[in-house]
Amino acid sequence: MLKRLEELRAEATDLFGSASSENELEELRVRFLGRKSELNQMSRGLGGMDPSERKAVGQAVNALKKDLGAMLAAAQDRLAGGGGKPGLDLTLPGRRPWVGRRHPLMRTLARLEEIFTLLGFEVALGPHIEDDFHNFEALNIPADHPARDMHDTFYVEGDRLLRTHTSPVQIRTMMSRKPPIRIIAPGRVYRNETPDASHSAEFYQLEGLYVDRGVKFGELKGVLTRFLRELYGDDVAVRLRPGFFPFTEPSAEIDVECRVCHGKGCSVCKQTGWVELLGAGMVDPRVFRAVGYDPDEISGYAFGLGVDRICMMETGLDDIRLLMENDLRLLRQI
Ligand SMILES: [Zn+2]
Repeated sequence: MLKRLEELRAEATDLFGSASSENELEELRVRFLGRKSELNQMSRGLGGMDPSERKAVGQAVNALKKDLGAMLAAAQDRLAGGGGKPGLDLTLPGRRPWVGRRHPLMRTLARLEEIFTLLGFEVALGPHIEDDFHNFEALNIPADHPARDMHDTFYVEGDRLLRTHTSPVQIRTMMSRKPPIRIIAPGRVYRNETPDASHSAEFYQLEGLYVDRGVKFGELKGVLTRFLRELYGDDVAVRLRPGFFPFTEPSAEIDVECRVCHGKGCSVCKQTGWVELLGAGMVDPRVFRAVGYDPDEISGYAFGLGVDRICMMETGLDDIRLLMENDLRLLRQI
């Protein structure tokens, strides 16, 4: 009987190995593994066998059943895959799908908007292609003003240009509404700069404006201190320096201790330990006149900050260009 099993094995190996269609394979399955197959009959006959023989034959029958099953599976694979699937390793771990999330810059922007919304500001938006009046003239930057040299401008056509700051949104808002106005204007701005670790031809600003009767400089200082504490915690080190901006008078620049090196000096803070975070001041009377407000009745403050710089300090990135390159290998680590 053991000899017969070996004959069956040899016959099956040949036939399964050369089977060329699903139908053929199904016939072979019935013939070798079906209920009426020779192997199955042998299996059922085991009970009536001499116990001395039964064990060896039983083991051989089971081994052949198992091998026939493997032959069938291999032949099915071969027919399905047109020659089998070499190199398929079912034990390899699967690929983990990446879950999308916000870009770090957009996360910073959302956080800033959230804080200023809590402080009573509403978000205002404006066009990216501006005209000379809204981007310069109305902000007290006439054609011969030296500040124009600092705004390396991309001109589009005629007096149309890519906005160099978000300040034109202040002008548009004041010209279309009456005080009180309390807005922030977040958005992308453009400068014709040679890119390096701290300069990019496009970056994000967020600007704020509060205009009403009797607004004082102390309120400006108060709201910005409150903002920086919300952002960095109550122990944040802040310093105010006198500054100059054409559209505010008096003006101040506000520095915070570098969050990357904690004051020791690094490339983000240009080794000074401080990062200039905000420019601010009281709205210049000439700006009020340009939008049709009476500077004797109305006063207000304005401030602006660089979103990219805040994002860089938060993420520890020391090159602004990394924020624009959208390299997923980097973004997935942040
Ligand atoms: Zn630093």
